[in-house]
Amino acid sequence: PLPPRLFFEAVEQAPLAISITDARATILYANLAFETLTGYHRAEVCGKNESILSNNATPASIYAQLWHTIQRKQTWTGILVNRTKQGGDYLAELIISPVLNAHGELQYFLGMHRDVTKVH
Ligand code: FAD
Repeated sequence: PLPPRLFFEAVEQAPLAISITDARATILYANLAFETLTGYHRAEVCGKNESILSNNATPASIYAQLWHTIQRKQTWTGILVNRTKQGGDYLAELIISPVLNAHGELQYFLGMHRDVTKVH
């Protein structure tokens, strides 16, 4: 079997902000790129909801559509306006995918995003 260390090191150093949450979007893990992009240390985001990244200007209907998709165990891809700890807004291109347990039930969500402010 592949050592867990291999997965940890690869995810930790991936050039993409990666977080793993429970089924209600409470953050359980965030990688280095997540810390760099959002300005939050992982110690302060773990236990908090991903909504700490919300800029509070995005219509709730966008989030409702996101949740409708991921609760059906499907992957959601889209762009949200996120806010860093320092208060700067950036365009986040997000992929949120479900992580299922052996019974096919929702267990975690894997969130991956990058700053596409300059791309758009
Ligand atoms: P709220 O008023 O709490 O929610 C807005 C609407 O979203 C609600 O009316 C409801 O329809 C729906 N909703 C919210 N929570 C739930 C729930 N637990 N179950 C079902 N429906 C719900 N948000 C960002 O802004 N930026 C991110 O980078 C980001 N990354 C995420 C990564 C992952 C892995 C996951 C699972 C979620 C992520 N979210 C992100 C979504 C985030 O968790 C919040 O739902 C979102 O920020 C809206 O929060 P709010 O408090 O502003 O609005």
